[in-house]
Amino acid sequence: MVDARAVRKVYGRHEVLKSVDLQVGRGEVVSFLGASGSGKSTFLRCINHLERIDGGEISVNGQLVGYRRANGKKYELHRSQIALARRDVGMVFQRFNLFPHMTALENVMEAPVSVQRRPRAEARAEAQALLERVGLAERQDHYPSMLSGGQQQRVAIARALAMKPALMLFDEPTSALDPELVGEVLDVMKALAADGMTMIVVTHEIGFAREVCDRVVFMDDGVIVEQGTPADVFENPQHGRTQAFLSKVL
Ligand code: ATP
Ligand code: MG
Repeated sequence: MVDARAVRKVYGRHEVLKSVDLQVGRGEVVSFLGASGSGKSTFLRCINHLERIDGGEISVNGQLVGYRRANGKKYELHRSQIALARRDVGMVFQRFNLFPHMTALENVMEAPVSVQRRPRAEARAEAQALLERVGLAERQDHYPSMLSGGQQQRVAIARALAMKPALMLFDEPTSALDPELVGEVLDVMKALAADGMTMIVVTHEIGFAREVCDRVVFMDDGVIVEQGTPADVFENPQHGRTQAFLSKVL
């Protein structure tokens, strides 16, 4: 589903990603851990071509991200083609970024109606089903300002799912939430994982990673230093940097 090879990203003289390789299979749930500044968000953004990579290549669902190949060369795709490809990838950020002037339901319907040109009635019915799936059927007519952070984040997940993505990327989806609201968002993600969604989750929620993820990837200073099953990485970390990191968070 995701095949990243030798991915490099440079900001000025700072090499933020140094030859990152990652393969994620369909239905696999992978969590990314690592210290602040290690490159986790940058890597997620590269998967969506929100950042242009400086080396290597990434493909999602068999499609090269951001480029097409012709005559042995790579050409960057047109903006409209990039937007089209991005529909396959749902992204949920730390901040919910809901449209404040739209209700929960309207937020979820927005992209299917305006981007995919789906009939409103159909998009509405699907949006209602998605809000029910994230436990917010009763809140569909609430505006974001009337919802708790956890509820807003669940709307954001429903909104991402409305485009029927093949892959979901989560960048610290619970770290802006009050502690008592974290569980409800993780529960939604857990259900999504159980339904077979392919997911890459940057998180500090070790419990979630341990319980839900098939694989844990530990990133340090722009490289993947270690990866394995949660049991391997948490109980028996091989790398000194992983050990040092885990000793602080476990
Ligand atoms: P955190 O856990 O704090 O979210 P992270 O692992 O997600 O950290 P990134 O946000 O990917 O780390 O950042 C990696 C490095 O790249 C950092 O040193 C950061 O300062 C730098 N960086 C990120 N975005 C930019 C940018 N647009 N311009 C310049 N440097 C950037
Ligand atoms: Mg980050």
